[in-house]
Amino acid sequence: MNRLWFARAVALFSVAGLVCSCSTAPSEDLHKETRVLLGTFVEVTVKAEKDKAKQAVRAVLDEMKRVEDLTSFHKPSELTRINALAGSGAVHADPELVALVNESLKFAERTDGAFDPTLGPLAKLWNFSGGGESRLPDDSEIQTALAKTGWRRVKTDTSAGTITLSEKGMSLDLGGIAKVYSLDRARMVLKKLGVRSALVNAGGDVAVVGEKSPGKPWRVGVQDPRNPRGLVAVAAITDGFIVTSGDYERFFLRDGKRYHHILNPETGYPATGLRSATIIAPTGVMADAISTAVFVLGVKRGLEYLKRTPGVEGFLIDDAGKMFFSPGAKDYLEVTSK
Ligand code: AMP
Ligand code: MG
Repeated sequence: MNRLWFARAVALFSVAGLVCSCSTAPSEDLHKETRVLLGTFVEVTVKAEKDKAKQAVRAVLDEMKRVEDLTSFHKPSELTRINALAGSGAVHADPELVALVNESLKFAERTDGAFDPTLGPLAKLWNFSGGGESRLPDDSEIQTALAKTGWRRVKTDTSAGTITLSEKGMSLDLGGIAKVYSLDRARMVLKKLGVRSALVNAGGDVAVVGEKSPGKPWRVGVQDPRNPRGLVAVAAITDGFIVTSGDYERFFLRDGKRYHHILNPETGYPATGLRSATIIAPTGVMADAISTAVFVLGVKRGLEYLKRTPGVEGFLIDDAGKMFFSPGAKDYLEVTSK
């Protein structure tokens, strides 16, 4: 894990964790456990009788690890196996991965390709999330990598259980949805075990089960993109997801310019215009895909997208620090700055 990024992850994690703890009176039946998973800190908080809570926390962490083994881009996974077979026709894959890739392609279509799960060649080049240092590639390298991207060149066949990457050198990077897909799965596990109140925080992206206590939602802090210890808002969430894409999560500075991990699929360079996009949605995959896409779309097109997407709210912070809200976002938010 990149050390700079690791330090930021700690800060982000503490901010979100701080808010969640502050809003709770200490309670015998609130159980927490933390683990590094999916390239970030995952903290599971379950409110239940002790043994049941412990069992639930373990089951959640195991399930999230299983998703990591399915989707990781850098560590050996079912995804890396499929990527290695790019250009060899239809490849049989785990049905769960076929379904997730299929879902990612739907979001690519709905967002006019702002969300693009085929940016693997660019991800390798920039190396924001692998081990070692990130680097600023030459333009010619970016153009070569860009030529190996394009979500329309991926096909899934759910009944045959296959994924086709049309050309050698192409690769899927599901980093824009995998982490919060694992939160979808975590929430499913908690509900199956009969847990009625829980919160899972994966590096600031949060899934919530039920209310914190009767009549009281969970309260989740949203980090200030330019102050790792500050909050711009606190959201009240019951049974749902709050997910942020930001230019402060994985980045480096070169000659005063910030280069970060959310890429514009048209140019191959980091998307410009926003510092962060925070999305509140009923499912994790939806929240995560949309947060990445809206970040790429920018203020105007991003807000238009949110306006025409039912059940999803969000707020954006532009590169001057100005906040913009979707029509229903303020129902969930207490803005703490500006
Ligand atoms: P998020 O923090 O959810 O916005 O996800 C960012 C991650 O998604 C990056 O680290 C990449 O792995 C991947 N990614 C970057 N740009 C895009 C994009 N335009 N569409 C889909 N995934 C992307
Ligand atoms: Mg995302």
